Amino acid sequence: MFDKANRVFETPTRYQNFIAGQFVDATGGNVISRESPAHGRLVSHYPASTRADAETAIAAARQSFESGEWAFSYGGDRARVLRTVAGLIRQNAEELALIETLETSKPLDAAHGEVMFSAELWDYAAGAARMLAGDSHNTLGEGMLGLVLREPIGVVGIITPWNFPLLILSERLPFALAAGCSIVVKPSEFTSGTALMLAHYLKEAGLPDGICNIVAGTGDPVGQAILDSDDVDMVAFTGSSRVGRAAIAASAGNIKKLSLELGGKSPSVVFADCDLDAAVDGVIKAGTINMGECCIAGSRLLVDARIADAFQLRLAERLLSLRMGDPLDPSSRIGAIINQAQFDRISALVRDGVRDGARIICGGDPDNHSGLYYPPTVLADVKPGMAVAKEEIFGPVVSVMQFETLDEAISLANDTEYGLAAYVWTNDLSKALSCSRRIRAGRVWVNSALAGFPEMPLGGFKQSGNGRETGRYGVEEYTELKSVHLQVGPQTERWVEGA
Ligand code: NAD
Repeated sequence: MFDKANRVFETPTRYQNFIAGQFVDATGGNVISRESPAHGRLVSHYPASTRADAETAIAAARQSFESGEWAFSYGGDRARVLRTVAGLIRQNAEELALIETLETSKPLDAAHGEVMFSAELWDYAAGAARMLAGDSHNTLGEGMLGLVLREPIGVVGIITPWNFPLLILSERLPFALAAGCSIVVKPSEFTSGTALMLAHYLKEAGLPDGICNIVAGTGDPVGQAILDSDDVDMVAFTGSSRVGRAAIAASAGNIKKLSLELGGKSPSVVFADCDLDAAVDGVIKAGTINMGECCIAGSRLLVDARIADAFQLRLAERLLSLRMGDPLDPSSRIGAIINQAQFDRISALVRDGVRDGARIICGGDPDNHSGLYYPPTVLADVKPGMAVAKEEIFGPVVSVMQFETLDEAISLANDTEYGLAAYVWTNDLSKALSCSRRIRAGRVWVNSALAGFPEMPLGGFKQSGNGRETGRYGVEEYTELKSVHLQVGPQTERWVEGA
């Protein structure tokens, strides 16, 4: 893989937008250049698209939707296209994983796993394209039959963040396509490579021109043009709560539907009766996966006070054996942080935590490492009001708090404006069920961390967003319901007497 990476360093890939079935540069030919955060070498040039480029893509999507070519097509035909894309993702998995590793610095193994899971999502959505159905009501009286039609919502804008580029796109795009929508995708300006590669697979799979358009560029103008447009019926936005709020404001124009997947501050709740080895491992996985740059990162560890000291020690010991280094090296489990700004944010939050009274159990010493590598860090003695207990850090940092009772654990778990995920470690079924039911989060893992299945919906409670992606719920998200009232037999009742 190092050879292949070297070839990319020698000749960085130059990508193009995909609009109305054509591969095109941005108007004016400007590009955004991306360096690998781990290597400091140029790897990609994406189009720095303009507002006009975004508007051209939206117009292409609108026109293709109105034509009905995809929206009214047979689900089986849509399924074939989606399944072919799944196959092409698998065929090109190595190259896709390499590009993701170079652009994000996530370990290559993890990138490969994400690519394969993305293919799984396309396969699942292919099946869903044939299962989508409405309803009928045969109970409305002798003269009336009710049909509930499920129709594609229209033109969908999909705006994605930098942390799981292909995966997050694949949690949305194939589901919107399965529903019959036309789409404009705006990938993150830091990691657009695999979305733009995907465009080639869509073309090869026979997706009609204009149904999916992919436009690279910065949030403003490209994302903003999608949010502002009256020709866009729905936006599926994944990213920060800050931009999520801007999306809500912009949606007021044409009252477009929003599906928002925003930030998180998810708890790992560890009870004294759990399998401690499994819990230590799971807490590390949830806290450090993708360098903690993960919306569902288990960034708060809530641990039973009776085992807190021992658990923290085991955590620190095990974390020290986690190899941090070149993400192309198969033994690395922690790569570099996405960029300097994010690295500085993590450092500042950890420093503030220490100033406020938190104690570093391990890590927290980024100056001892070169480049953008931030070591896995555990902060003990964290109190609920501290910034490290409340704010999304988006780095490999776990803040530890202690509890004494089940109620206290649940109350701490819910003491956040977010509600994306929770991890519960216990061998007591009743505690497991209480936590699963009372913690306000879109996903709960019990004695496991981050197992993922296309069947299961994902999304957030509270300020983590609204709407659900994946599973049958994910396809339905991209549809509208229409009630049709059918008179059976002649209409005998008259509105106007004597008519
Ligand atoms: P971000 O909000 O900065 O950017 C996300 C996307 O929005 C990017 O494509 C960006 O270009 C675009 N954007 C920025 N300004 C815009 C504007 N004015 N109009 C329209 N689009 C605009 O987020 P990020 O830094 O890329 O990602 C990190 C954040 O994403 C974290 O808060 C994380 O929790 C969140 N996230 C959430 C989930 C989830 O499923 N809930 C998944 C991954 C990441």
